[in-house]
Amino acid sequence: MIIIENVAVATVDADGTEYADGHVVVGDDGRILAVGPGHAGRYQGKQRHVDGTGGLVTPGLVNTHHHLYQWATRGLALNDTLFGWLTTLYPIWGRLDAEVVGAAAGAGLGWLALSGCTTSMDHHYVFPRDGGDVLAAEIEAARLIGLRFHPARGSMDLSRKDGGLPPDNVVEDTDEALAATEAAIDRWHDPSDDAMLQIAVAPCSPFSVTERLMSEAATLARRKGVRLHTHLAETDDEEAFCQERFGCTPVEYAERLGWLGDDVWLAHGVHLDDKAIERLGATGTGVAHCPSSNARLGAGMARVRELLDHRVPVGLGVDGAASQEVSHLGAELRQALYTARLRGGPGALDAREALRMGTMGGARCLGRSDQIGSLERGKLADLVLWKLDDLGHDGIDDRVAALVFGPPAEVELALVGGRPVVERGSLVHADARELAREARRVARKLRKT
Ligand SMILES: [Zn+2]
Repeated sequence: MIIIENVAVATVDADGTEYADGHVVVGDDGRILAVGPGHAGRYQGKQRHVDGTGGLVTPGLVNTHHHLYQWATRGLALNDTLFGWLTTLYPIWGRLDAEVVGAAAGAGLGWLALSGCTTSMDHHYVFPRDGGDVLAAEIEAARLIGLRFHPARGSMDLSRKDGGLPPDNVVEDTDEALAATEAAIDRWHDPSDDAMLQIAVAPCSPFSVTERLMSEAATLARRKGVRLHTHLAETDDEEAFCQERFGCTPVEYAERLGWLGDDVWLAHGVHLDDKAIERLGATGTGVAHCPSSNARLGAGMARVRELLDHRVPVGLGVDGAASQEVSHLGAELRQALYTARLRGGPGALDAREALRMGTMGGARCLGRSDQIGSLERGKLADLVLWKLDDLGHDGIDDRVAALVFGPPAEVELALVGGRPVVERGSLVHADARELAREARRVARKLRKT
């Protein structure tokens, strides 16, 4: 049992309940036993007491879009658009193997945990023929770090010779991609309430995937009862590609192929017209908002205010570390706030809405809102105690404002299912320097070969 007391608590429940001085009690079953104002009651049995003075407890952050392998190719194509950046990187990614992906995932997930993330998805869509079991490698990395993990088995089957963007050697055969996706679900997907590992089906994007793979992937996911994810409406170039090839917008294309629904969440959703936003809201289709990546690639600013007003589930994502070298989910709270305000003025988003996107919004995207995303009795104890009594946050009395408006806060304690994964700004199960060393080694290998 873990009892955190003398601490501000933002539960992010449906009413937005907060306690300026409260407590959270975590049971031995890894679930929240109590959350409320003042001190915790008396409990029997072995207990660990945590004094949270000066801090804030929130639900753990949920990362809804990422490509962990990209940790091995950070800092390249620094001044390109998405299509230029992809064209530079595809040939390097064509040499990926399980060793590279495992080490990159270790670094990426370790860094995410240190940034306040307790659940992450990963969208992996590059499967070189002789690259080994790259999905197993990243799942092993997530187990090591201790995060709840939702890898999405991606795929590409539309190469340059067929009018797509990727070169021929990084795409898969359509039927092989579908079979491998189904095999990944059968092998890894855990449908249980407290699952640490769930698989999603995730063809990459309209310009790298055929219509047949998109529609058959949707059929597969629904037959298996797993979620669907893809990139959509990220850039003007993609919009032009869809208009030219399919004669419609990306969202119309998605709807035509059965890709709108409450079991789908889409990465980016930057270039959406009013009708598209209405369709996303009406169908319950989620959006992984990645404001730092959109800024890094100059893709544009998503219409987050309008999405929220249309009841679209919106989560936050750091996106791959090669298109957003910061990759810090805690920092993404402020980036989301700032991006919304650059578009729509200071009333466009507040600190609590940003925190809700980073927690409950993400849980909704991943289909886990009954289990994670808020601090409520009986839910899984995925939570973060943020340290806010340091120089960077001093004097901002509103603790949620301090977290979101202030600099990225250090994680004093992060729990996943009640198990500590970060303590006093350090990983519990891995050494950050060792993760960095391994990631550097594979990045060198990848770029040399
Ligand atoms: Zn992406």
